[in-house]
Amino acid sequence: MIEFAHIHKRYGAATAIADLSLMVKRGELLALVGPNGAGKTTLIRVLLGLVRPTAGTVCIDGHDVQRDGVAARLLLGYLPQRAVLYGNLTVHENLAFVAQLRGVSPVRIAEVLALVRLAPVAERPARTLSGGMLQRLGLAQALLASPPVLVLDEPTVSLDPQSTLEFKELLRALHAAGTTVLLSSHILGDVQEVADRVAILDHGRLVALDSVAALAQQCALPERLRIQVGEPSDHAVELARRAGAATAELHGETLEVAVPRERKLAVLQALMAAGVVIRDFSSAPPTLEAIFLQLLDQPVKG
Ligand code: ATP
Repeated sequence: MIEFAHIHKRYGAATAIADLSLMVKRGELLALVGPNGAGKTTLIRVLLGLVRPTAGTVCIDGHDVQRDGVAARLLLGYLPQRAVLYGNLTVHENLAFVAQLRGVSPVRIAEVLALVRLAPVAERPARTLSGGMLQRLGLAQALLASPPVLVLDEPTVSLDPQSTLEFKELLRALHAAGTTVLLSSHILGDVQEVADRVAILDHGRLVALDSVAALAQQCALPERLRIQVGEPSDHAVELARRAGAATAELHGETLEVAVPRERKLAVLQALMAAGVVIRDFSSAPPTLEAIFLQLLDQPVKG
């Protein structure tokens, strides 16, 4: 759906993006992550046609953004970090303004208001909305023309936990309805929850591109197992280590173990076979944060 091919972007002597090729599949939710200055914003600006690449092309559904910009941009809905809104206009008027600019039927406004759950506040001036509502109004603007592709730049960065949760739900619903989403974010926990695949950028290069589960496997990162034991003892720690745990530590009655996925059951079995009482346990996959830190620790190739 979106194809970046051999994108280079230099600002004077500085390279912002170096030979980056990346395909966003139709209907997928792909997240761009990377440290400050990695090139995420530049890549999004290239996609939006706001920055001309020094070399390379980007096509949206076959339309080259540079040569066929109008057709390409018609396929995009864009939500910047801070949506451009008019505080004195009502929610409805803000949407009516954009609808008129983009030639969208006014009927669509009610649909979009319902979608982002802002219908009850449609007549309130935008300046009276909470941060979460403003972000949803920005999303409503981006959705007015029913674009098949949504581009979101740090969409949850200024939201509180409740608004973040609501925004993620909305994103999941749009994704489930078939919208292709390209999202840039520093909030790796959110990315891990919503993204089909993650593109990790560093120094303008693509360091990794895959699902979080596949990246975790490539990095051979252990899972985190938390076991509540009846009688905490050094013996339980030793048993876990011998059964394959990379690390095992007691915190009160909880035995915290980092263990390769395939040795998880062996640890539990070893404890039970030795008579250790297990009151409860939970396991969590490696976090995207751990993957990110491990991958960025490696020297950049090429
Ligand atoms: P952040 O997470 O901090 O937003 P980013 O991954 O979005 O970072 P970019 O903003 O794309 O990174 O920046 C990539 C590189 O390009 C950085 O070294 C930045 O200083 C440089 N850069 C970006 N825009 C310009 C510009 N207009 N002029 C000169 N250099 C720029």
